[in-house]
Amino acid sequence: MSDSPILQVQGIEVLYEQAILAVRGVSLQVAKGQIAVLLGANGAGKSSTLKAISNLLRAERGEVMQGRIHYNGRDITHSTADRLVRDGLVQVLEGRHCFAHLTVEENLMTGAFARRISRRQLHDELEQIYTQFPRLELRRKSLAGYTSGGEQQMVAIGRALMAKPQLVLLDEPSMGLAPQIVEEIFTTIGQLNREAGVSFLIAEQNIAVALEYAHYGYVLETGSVVRQGTGAELAALDDLHSFYLGGQPATANAEGVQLPAN
Ligand code: ATP
Repeated sequence: MSDSPILQVQGIEVLYEQAILAVRGVSLQVAKGQIAVLLGANGAGKSSTLKAISNLLRAERGEVMQGRIHYNGRDITHSTADRLVRDGLVQVLEGRHCFAHLTVEENLMTGAFARRISRRQLHDELEQIYTQFPRLELRRKSLAGYTSGGEQQMVAIGRALMAKPQLVLLDEPSMGLAPQIVEEIFTTIGQLNREAGVSFLIAEQNIAVALEYAHYGYVLETGSVVRQGTGAELAALDDLHSFYLGGQPATANAEGVQLPAN
């Protein structure tokens, strides 16, 4: 990995309702200009880790109890979510939250809300989103609530892009979508990464597609990182699928993939 991470998470613990320890000492990093993935089964702690980074835990009565989070070298452990968005760190929540009663285009425009840009610039940036997601151009006047799941996911990602992010946290972008749409979304993510240099941290249960695009990945189990390695190293692990679906935790490191320090 490059030695100048855009994101560095060191030993964080997330506690909900002052009782439920969802994340136990997770450390990870995202190198500038790279795609990192967080893999793990339901309840492994992926969403909680992402929300800890983007400071969205409070609304769910959760908090970061320990550890530090650095973004572009700055300690953001206690930064507000809106400050983070202004600084280019944006999260797309699980479940593709769109404003159902706004059109696709109005949804996209809300993403630029925190930036003071001219109508002309707004128009140009919307056109860029339509180049990246041609389906959205066809649906620009449709109410988001009446578009397909795949289109809503594209709206949610497009809205994040309108904030001109350096780092996007994506929570399960493939959830509930047909394989062809998942491929389309990941192809666009890959392009945004290569061509616009946007870094991504993506939580996914769809291992195959995630590792196809990941430079680096982490496997979470019951709130801890149990494996990490490059996308190719993790893809080569025979036991990853069974491990994921609740198989025995790995104890050996025969494949040369780093086991976690924590
Ligand atoms: P999923 O794919 O199901 O979202 P995940 O890997 O993202 O799984 P989390 O949603 O982070 O996992 O959940 C980790 C643990 O924290 C689980 O045991 C879950 O029940 C618990 N948890 C998550 N959100 C809350 C909350 N708001 N209040 C209490 N416990 C929570």
